[in-house]
Amino acid sequence: MRIFDPHIHMTSRTTDDYEAMHAAGVRAVVEPAFWLGQPRTSPASFFDYFDALLGWEPFRAAQYGIAHHCTIALNPKEANDPRCVPVLDELPRYLVKDHVVAVGEIGYDSMTPAEDTALAVQLQLAAEYALPALVHTPHRDKLAGLRRTLDVVRESALPPDHVLIDHLNETTVKEAKDGGCWLGFSVYPDTKMDEERMVAVLREYGPEKVLVNSAADWGKSDPLKTRKVADALLKAGFTEDDVDRVLWRNPVAFYGLSGRLDLDVADTDATHEGNSILRGIPKPRTGASTAETGLRPGAQDDSQAGAQAGPQSSPTTTEA
Ligand SMILES: [Zn+2]
Repeated sequence: MRIFDPHIHMTSRTTDDYEAMHAAGVRAVVEPAFWLGQPRTSPASFFDYFDALLGWEPFRAAQYGIAHHCTIALNPKEANDPRCVPVLDELPRYLVKDHVVAVGEIGYDSMTPAEDTALAVQLQLAAEYALPALVHTPHRDKLAGLRRTLDVVRESALPPDHVLIDHLNETTVKEAKDGGCWLGFSVYPDTKMDEERMVAVLREYGPEKVLVNSAADWGKSDPLKTRKVADALLKAGFTEDDVDRVLWRNPVAFYGLSGRLDLDVADTDATHEGNSILRGIPKPRTGASTAETGLRPGAQDDSQAGAQAGPQSSPTTTEA
């Protein structure tokens, strides 16, 4: 099984998560720029974060055989902070980068006038830079938030089939689908969608344009939820082709609209700007096998002592 998690905040996760995700079948992720929990106080704080999403995090993911791309934006919550809003002027220089596959996550949090402006401006940027957009819908007043989001999308230059509306549930899926958008579902441990509800939604609406993500971040969340949904779908009688469509081909098609999706992580450097994820002295890696996707097999812990070894631990190791 091959899995693409189209919305996960790996910056907040550990190498153990990457290892478990690879073992569960995850071979690709997209990490949307978002709120860090702790408010930012200046645009410069965003720039260091964006650079990490473009440099360090893809490097870390590649060590575990996972292709990493990101989406860049001013997130809905911080769109309300005048200290942060000037970051909008600097987004264009990030939107031209190879690993940026969408503008996002944008959308509504509290549905304020400042959020209206940031959403409209960033949908326009997506149209100008020929990128799709990942649009977050609010956790409160979901249906009202969705309707307002769809109105702003309709008024924008970006066609709805370049828009992924995320955090949908049973109350919002129909209108988002009727609006012509891609349909994203975040599956969390306790709140929002769970595996069984996801099965029911797919039974009712079918797999077309549906994406499932873990949205795992610094809060209570589970980076293996994509696999758990896949297993629930198979158990409920969906075919492997259905599962591959929802968990792989749909996210590939959506982010492929950017023209920048590169799912090959074969050429992995052992260091990023001279730094590695290792502790101690690297030793050569042995016994690597090729996964079904042809991608790197990722973290195989060949160090019971835990101190030295990592998956691509030696700068001098070369592999087919
Ligand atoms: Zn998110």
